[in-house]
Amino acid sequence: MTKGKISVHTDNLLPIIKKWLYSDSDIFIRELVSNAQDAIMKHKKLASIGEAAPESKYEVHVCVKKDDNIITISDNGVGMTADEVEKYINQVAFSGAEEFIKKYENEKDEKSKIIGHFGLGFYSAFMAASSVEIDTLSYQTDSKPIHWLSDGGSEYEIGEGTRTQRGTTITLHVSDDSKHFLETSQLRMILTKYCSFLPVEIYLTDGTEEPDTAISPINDTNPLWLKNPSECTEEEYKEFYHKVFLDFNDPLFWIHLNVDYPFNLKGILYFPKLNHELQSIEGQIKLYNNQVYIADNIKEVTPEYLMLLKGVIDCPDLPLNVSRSFLQNDGYVNKVSSHITKKVADKLTGLYKADKENYSTYWDDINPFVKYGCMRDEKFYERVKNAIIFKKHSGEYISLQEIIEEQTKEILYITDAESQSQYISLLEAENAEMIYLNNNIDNHFISLLEYKLPEIKFKRVDSYVSESLKADDSSDASNEKIIELFGKYATGMKVEAQALKSDCVPAMIILSEEARRMEEMTKMYGNMGMLNMPKAEETLVVNTNCELISNIAENSNQELQETICRQIVAMAKLSHASLSGSELTDYLNQSVDILYKLIKQ
Ligand code: ADP
Ligand code: MG
Repeated sequence: MTKGKISVHTDNLLPIIKKWLYSDSDIFIRELVSNAQDAIMKHKKLASIGEAAPESKYEVHVCVKKDDNIITISDNGVGMTADEVEKYINQVAFSGAEEFIKKYENEKDEKSKIIGHFGLGFYSAFMAASSVEIDTLSYQTDSKPIHWLSDGGSEYEIGEGTRTQRGTTITLHVSDDSKHFLETSQLRMILTKYCSFLPVEIYLTDGTEEPDTAISPINDTNPLWLKNPSECTEEEYKEFYHKVFLDFNDPLFWIHLNVDYPFNLKGILYFPKLNHELQSIEGQIKLYNNQVYIADNIKEVTPEYLMLLKGVIDCPDLPLNVSRSFLQNDGYVNKVSSHITKKVADKLTGLYKADKENYSTYWDDINPFVKYGCMRDEKFYERVKNAIIFKKHSGEYISLQEIIEEQTKEILYITDAESQSQYISLLEAENAEMIYLNNNIDNHFISLLEYKLPEIKFKRVDSYVSESLKADDSSDASNEKIIELFGKYATGMKVEAQALKSDCVPAMIILSEEARRMEEMTKMYGNMGMLNMPKAEETLVVNTNCELISNIAENSNQELQETICRQIVAMAKLSHASLSGSELTDYLNQSVDILYKLIKQ
């Protein structure tokens, strides 16, 4: 047996690395199991070209022996010779760790999650183990079994081992602060998370199994995304979705990504069904590297708006041991992202063209995604704009394109059918077309559309008195009187007198679209430095076509005038949901007074 010193420049890599990877301390499992898989793939390759003896069954075993504080990971892959252990473990793995620290030294202040996602290789074993042993026997003829031992510092022992089967066993002597990894259930969870789709069967045992019972591997060695799309059935897509995303609903539809050139990318993106309207959409994009799970929703790699979807993306060419800034600027990542954008947009336009009616049944579920995508990515908007539709008040759908073709300049929209019902019924009587824009994102989305299409303008139903609503523009002198009269009670509002076609509404409040949007924006951004923002301009439109109004102006009883004006202003505010608490109390009190007067008559 020989002892050696590993030539790294710092004696205590371990504490530093431990600190950095704290929140992802379970990645050592992923790293060791993928090394085992790599060793098996190498052997498979060698066997296929006749350079190694054929093997009938490749497998990886993860075994936990709780009483001994041990976890072992064994494979029947290529194994290592003494020289290889020297080179790949003592030099490569340890210097890899050193390099890793150097790379990330500059990023340690940032909450650099990605460091944990992209691993450290063999060295990460020391995250959970106080000492690590390697027992290995190379596939090469005449090689001797090797035993290696180290505590993760800069020293190791290497000598002849006892292994008789080709392959490698890594033994982790689990350290005191990592004892939870000795629970089989815990280990199963970690293996399921990272290794569910690895290509070689992985078995988890804890020594308590009955000898001859057949245990099944924890992984699916041939995941659906690797299959040819033409060979996958609808049932398979759905089953995969249920299993991977633990969502019992069926997805609406999906896109199978399958690219070989100019880069490698495979995956499946699902459009989930939202459970109910108010559910915040939260997707999950699982990123894999050659079937090894890396992490969910890595924003450096996945275009942001895609994170509203659910899916798996496997990028074998992804450079894993790189820094975040590198990923952000990496041409590969940009290419991946624009390819996906194109595929998603093509799918949506394809579905729309193929069956508009069916497409509209999806729209409620997919519209937040489409709109968000349009806002985040100009190219996506350009590709998908012909598949943007709106739900009309009548229940039918109208496309953006149709709106443009119809040359509708002002598009009336409803954000809340309940509180805007007075306006809606007025406009309905006029056969005015109204669309629903009741999603949180719509405010921003219509700004985008107005920017892209200057010829159209969106107006909420309560900001609009259509020309057709006005009976005629006969402005007579009595209007002046009405304005003056109501001006006293409609504090803070502009007052206008107009003859509306409908004679049953005495007055209504109209909000300026621009001012209201400004106000909403300010609210949203928490009033940042804009404390003096004016309140959205409100106009009280008094309907001179309503008999109540024409009579009141002429009435000489001042008290009666006042009561009626107050009541009308309060009613207009009420139907606009803008009565304050004390105003509501006043309104109710006055209503009671009126009823008293009526009964005493
Ligand atoms: P990487 O896997 O990125 O090469 P690691 O630190 O994980 O880096 O491993 C270093 C090297 O050690 C591997 O490239 C491989 O040559 C060798 N190695 C590690 N584990 C095994 C194993 N189970 N069987 C054979 N060789 C291994
Ligand atoms: Mg590795």
